[in-house]
Amino acid sequence: MLSLSLSLLRCFILLRRHFPTCLSSWKIPPHVQKSSQSEALLEMANNRLPLAPLQTFTDDEIMIKSSVKKFAQEQIAPLVSTMDENSKMEKSVLEGLFQQGLMGVEIDTKYGGTGASFFSTILVIEELAKVDAAVAIFCDLQNTIINKMITKLGTEEQKATYLPKLATEMIGSFCLSEAGAGSDPFALKTRADKKGNYYVINGSKMWISSAEYADLFLVMANVDPNIGYKGITCFLVDRDSAGLRIGRAENKMGIRASSTCPLTFEDVKVPEANILGQIGHGYKYAIESLNEGRIGIAAQQMLGLAQGCFDYTIPYMKERTQFGKRIFDFQGLQHQVALVATQLEAARLLTYNAARLVEAGRPFIKEASMAKYYASEIAGLTTSKCIEWMGGVGYTKDYPVEKYFRDAKIGTIYEGTSNIQLNTIAKHIDVEY
Ligand SMILES: Cc1cc2nc3c(=O)[nH]c(=O)nc-3n(C[C@H](O)[C@H](O)[C@H](O)COP(=O)(O)OP(=O)(O)OC[C@H]3O[C@@H](n4cnc5c(N)ncnc54)[C@H](O)[C@@H]3O)c2cc1C
Repeated sequence: MLSLSLSLLRCFILLRRHFPTCLSSWKIPPHVQKSSQSEALLEMANNRLPLAPLQTFTDDEIMIKSSVKKFAQEQIAPLVSTMDENSKMEKSVLEGLFQQGLMGVEIDTKYGGTGASFFSTILVIEELAKVDAAVAIFCDLQNTIINKMITKLGTEEQKATYLPKLATEMIGSFCLSEAGAGSDPFALKTRADKKGNYYVINGSKMWISSAEYADLFLVMANVDPNIGYKGITCFLVDRDSAGLRIGRAENKMGIRASSTCPLTFEDVKVPEANILGQIGHGYKYAIESLNEGRIGIAAQQMLGLAQGCFDYTIPYMKERTQFGKRIFDFQGLQHQVALVATQLEAARLLTYNAARLVEAGRPFIKEASMAKYYASEIAGLTTSKCIEWMGGVGYTKDYPVEKYFRDAKIGTIYEGTSNIQLNTIAKHIDVEY
């Protein structure tokens, strides 16, 4: 008996030697509460409530939200099904987005933009996605990536040339991915060789959103493959550049009206003056833009799309009767509805919080990844449940719910797949603890 106890004790000591030191006792480890970065409110804005709930909006934000809602319901909703079927954005929708000032939400008024906040952009995307996620992604990319990059990195001349057009008539596309460079975009092979005072771009891009309608392409190409990703540089390429070919739009499962095309570059000459930012800094710009862009995807996928689908389905459940009562009255369904509503709310708060962190100039990368990851997963769940709650009719194209379901899937893929978001979140946790 004694020898058994001794050998058990020896085993235990041996095991403990291999435990991480922080597990050696019940003492509280020194690095507790790293998961949320709190900050004291040093200065309260005069007309704002202190410690306001996350869903507190400024007057401007409320105004922009309600005008986009009206625009989406009146001018987009009647065209959604046709645009989806034809995989084509209606001209009136494109023009309407510009007329409403929604393609240049944060562009300074001195360049003809709306001059509103980043949070306003998020609200715009959310409202558009309630009606059509394809229109929302179109507006999202223009605002959160194209306009943002030119505003942050452009020379005065580049800003004066492009920003007024982007606010009023010009569509931009962001060209990073290639056939062999998706989750690992810095494996890109497109190159730009210097010849005197211009560069010659050769290569190809894949999955380029809005390409069919775009007049300006922000193209990531490597000026010196010998130094790897540190040669990646961003070029402003006009649509009519000789040697640039825009391929046929992909026949997609969802967001069909947003065109997604391959591009090829054959000896495309681009003046040196069209380099955006610094040579060799393209990889940084791509990461930074996508970090912020992810909050737009979260808003698009979740707050808009999933909420729009939920809003459509609940009234149906309150009208439809089976077994002599409303299907909404079955507790089995009520619990599912309550669970989805709670997850929607959680995703909304994650997204709004990430957007407010950006505005406050505080670290936001982990929170943006959390918002994008969670919102995309919840959008998939919500839209799938809505189809089930509507039964057979939910499965037909006579109702919009199946479109929401198809549109939701892309949220787990572009601007970093769900796995890539989880990698980013884990990397931050690794550093924090
Ligand atoms: C409709 C649409 C629009 C798009 N728009 C644009 C655009 O405008 N501009 C642009 O540049 N790109 C765009 N993209 C490209 C998009 O960003 C990529 O599709 C995305 O990054 C995934 O790359 P991939 O398709 O090559 O998948 P892959 O990278 O091949 O991934 C396949 C699977 O492997 C997993 N995986 C890969 N690496 C890891 C890892 N390290 N750890 C765990 N899992 C991993 C992924 O999560 C995924 O599940 C678009 C794509 C689509 C479908």
